[in-house]
Amino acid sequence: MSATVIDGRAVAARLREQVKADAAAFAQEHGRPPGLATIMVGDDPASAVYVAGKHKASGEAGIASFDHRLPADASRDDVAALIQRLNADPECSGMIVQLPVPKHLDGVELTGLVDPDKDVDGLTPISAGRLALGLPGLRPCTPSGVMDLLAEAGAELEGAEAVVIGRSNLFGKPMAQMLIGASATVTVCHSRTRDLPAVTRRADVLIAAVGRAEMVKADWVKPGAVVIDVGMNRLASGLVGDVAFDEVAQVASAITAVPGGVGPMTIAGLLRNTVQAARLQESR
Ligand code: NAP
Repeated sequence: MSATVIDGRAVAARLREQVKADAAAFAQEHGRPPGLATIMVGDDPASAVYVAGKHKASGEAGIASFDHRLPADASRDDVAALIQRLNADPECSGMIVQLPVPKHLDGVELTGLVDPDKDVDGLTPISAGRLALGLPGLRPCTPSGVMDLLAEAGAELEGAEAVVIGRSNLFGKPMAQMLIGASATVTVCHSRTRDLPAVTRRADVLIAAVGRAEMVKADWVKPGAVVIDVGMNRLASGLVGDVAFDEVAQVASAITAVPGGVGPMTIAGLLRNTVQAARLQESR
């Protein structure tokens, strides 16, 4: 079998066109566009690249963006005061506290100060609780993007065995919640899982989010499975995922590549959330 490659770039491009139309409609109705604010503390170079990408993508979607920078030695109260100011600012529909923050700050505590209706990363305790309870709310962007890719692949989730490798708050846990919401039978694996290949071989849908280059081999995969590779591992040879793509593509029915799979969906999801956040605030 040779798998269909699920084209994340194409799905993300369609989503971004849709968001652009939605942002324009919002601006028409309200006389101002949706707005995304980023807060970056310190000058971590990787974070600066991610933040720049978010502002560029916002501009292309017709979303206003506000780039807030604080020095690396900013106090907890300095950051908290900025978050509170943006919580009260009607121009700011959505807000991101770019992680990681410097070591003297608590990123989880600070993120928790964001108004849940502006929490476009979907990472506050309130957003996580809404997801867990199946209530409407802003969802984390990367697992939402994976749900879009599964839909694109035509994956049947109801009653399917879904295995997620990774249990982070950022990805693995919300991914599992979304799959439960779609009536899959979900198993979450992590570094203490015994005989991981035996578990992954049960999966009709296998999602890897570990951060170990090409860990998932062909003999870990059930023939015909849909395989989604969230991993991003920078090697001297370039960016690779957590799945050994060439060999797994011989076994799976559909698979995402790295790059060009899940990655483009994350930023598209952030833009979608920003427009949704703008609407949430207008409705309360
Ligand atoms: P993380 O917080 O480091 O979590 C990694 C998870 O993998 C943990 O649950 C860990 O288990 C588990 N793990 C580690 N070694 C393992 C092993 N040998 N066998 C089984 N499980 C193992 O990472 P993350 O933030 O979830 O990200 C995971 C990967 O996805 C990274 O490569 C990251 O760059 C990528 N990512 C990509 C995007 C995107 O936009 N494409 C977005 C988010 C993340 P324990 O909990 O037991 O330690």
